[in-house]
Amino acid sequence: MKAIFYSTKSVERELLIKVNNKKHEITLVSNALNAETTDYAKEKDAVVVFTNDDVTAPVICKLSALGVKYIATRSVGIDHIDRAAAEKCGIKVANIPAYAPQAIAEHAVALALALSRHLVQADQQCHQFNFSLDHLTGFNFFGKTVGIIGLGHIGTATASIFNGLGCRVLGYDIKQKKLTNVESVDLDTLYRESDIISLHTPLLPDTIHMINETSLLKMKNGVMLINTARGDLIKTTAVLDALKSKKIGYLGLDVYEYERGLFFEDHEADDVRDALLSELMNYPNVLISPHQAFLTKEALEEIALKTIDILDNWSKITENVIIKAI
Ligand code: NAD
Repeated sequence: MKAIFYSTKSVERELLIKVNNKKHEITLVSNALNAETTDYAKEKDAVVVFTNDDVTAPVICKLSALGVKYIATRSVGIDHIDRAAAEKCGIKVANIPAYAPQAIAEHAVALALALSRHLVQADQQCHQFNFSLDHLTGFNFFGKTVGIIGLGHIGTATASIFNGLGCRVLGYDIKQKKLTNVESVDLDTLYRESDIISLHTPLLPDTIHMINETSLLKMKNGVMLINTARGDLIKTTAVLDALKSKKIGYLGLDVYEYERGLFFEDHEADDVRDALLSELMNYPNVLISPHQAFLTKEALEEIALKTIDILDNWSKITENVIIKAI
């Protein structure tokens, strides 16, 4: 099978080539998929994308016209792909249903611990030889209540870590889930009782902006909010207001509502910077990472293996169709 991989990063290219082991004719480009870069997919059977690629209807139409039959994403989340448009064009779509959920769970907890203990400020101070303890007082996680929204692979793994820290863990999932050490509660109870809230739902029509003015009002004053799922789960302007009013005491983001075209690349030299993100970063109680929660050796390996698996399966289908036709 001939496949083009868009938005590949140096950290994954070698792995993809190794795991592919020359089975498929793969082309790896660093460019993102968008209306201007579809031509790279000429004569390819499959297009392999990542979370911030533009896989909207107009791009899918162009890919279809070029003869592309398959689109795979090297991610769990599939929200960036217009699946209805793909179906209309007869293009099959696949994602990686799960990979190393601990990678994302551990990053969520790392953000929470770093925020609580002001580790970024402490490190910056120490580098200036300022070893003062002013402004560095944290809080213990032991005994605190953590609310996990979305109890899938990652939410469950996150709950286990918080359990290990001695937290009471509340969980809410749209599907009834019974987990040991997680108290299933409704969303309002979770908002009302949690000291720390961590988001782990996919981005869906009913989860877009689930953190907004109304849900924020239901939370404890000074709540810690962690988002390693998708940026659009949070209405950023509402969260900025909540930071100003101190409703939110700590904010940890690995994903950002307007991250497309920004995250995964170096924009240090840009003349104009994203104003909302810049405003967020002015707060010392906000910690941002560039959508790196998945970025562990173990997760990258699993992503590479499972992506090549998808191509293997599709080539079997293609071979069967050719054999039948003969
Ligand atoms: P999953 O499918 O295993 O779990 C998602 C859970 O959310 C399911 O249990 C589902 O029932 C629940 N859910 C769906 N709609 C809901 C709603 N309205 N309210 C409450 N719960 C709801 O997925 P996962 O592997 O745990 O991944 C979760 C998300 O994390 C992904 O969709 C992706 O967006 C994000 N993610 C981020 C990174 C990163 O690097 N930052 C990496 C991988 C995944």
